[in-house]
Amino acid sequence: MSAPGDDRDDGVVMITCRRASVLLSRREDLPLGRAEAMKLRVHLALCGMCRNVARQWAALRLAMQRLRDRDQ
Ligand SMILES: [Zn+2]
Repeated sequence: MSAPGDDRDDGVVMITCRRASVLLSRREDLPLGRAEAMKLRVHLALCGMCRNVARQWAALRLAMQRLRDRDQ
C-alpha cells in the first residue's frame, strides 16, 4: 500500500506499510509516542500483512526472553 507523499504521514490516519514496519521495529527499542502508537494500531487493525509482521516481532521477543530466562 503506497500513497503519494509516502513519508509525510503527519495528520494522516492511515500510515503506509513501510512506515508501519519502521514503527514496529522501533518500538522494540523504545516506546512510541502516543500519536505514533495510535497510527500503528489503526494500521494493524486494517492490514493483515503488517499484523503478521507484528506477530513475528512478538514471537521473536518471546524467544529472546525465554533465552534470557534460561541463562539466569
Ligand atoms: Zn500494512
